[in-house]
Amino acid sequence: MSPNEQFDQAPDDLPPGGSSVMPLPPRLAVAVARRHALAAHWAESMAHGGPGAEIFQELADLEEAIAEAWPRFWDEHAHDWAIRDAGLIHSEATPTAACRTCTLQSAAWRREAA
Ligand SMILES: [Zn+2]
Repeated sequence: MSPNEQFDQAPDDLPPGGSSVMPLPPRLAVAVARRHALAAHWAESMAHGGPGAEIFQELADLEEAIAEAWPRFWDEHAHDWAIRDAGLIHSEATPTAACRTCTLQSAAWRREAA
């Protein structure tokens, strides 16, 4: 299934000017949650030697689908999401609590030190 299929024929169905106060349409809420999870997974993968390129491609495909189905919502959020994603970038030398692998490694180190 292409990433676009799940969003086919989706109208730009947000209320006028209401994206920050109205609940998101369910399919968009799912897409955004998936998008943020992929971004976190991508940052984790890049920091710890995972398949970053594959995850990035999946993220790019999903973002394209969101932009196509909900262009106004995309225009309002794409910039903030880019900044948000930049904040997730780290390395093993600069671990972050936002990363699952860093958190697991940190717990392991604490156990070793105990
Ligand atoms: Zn990490």
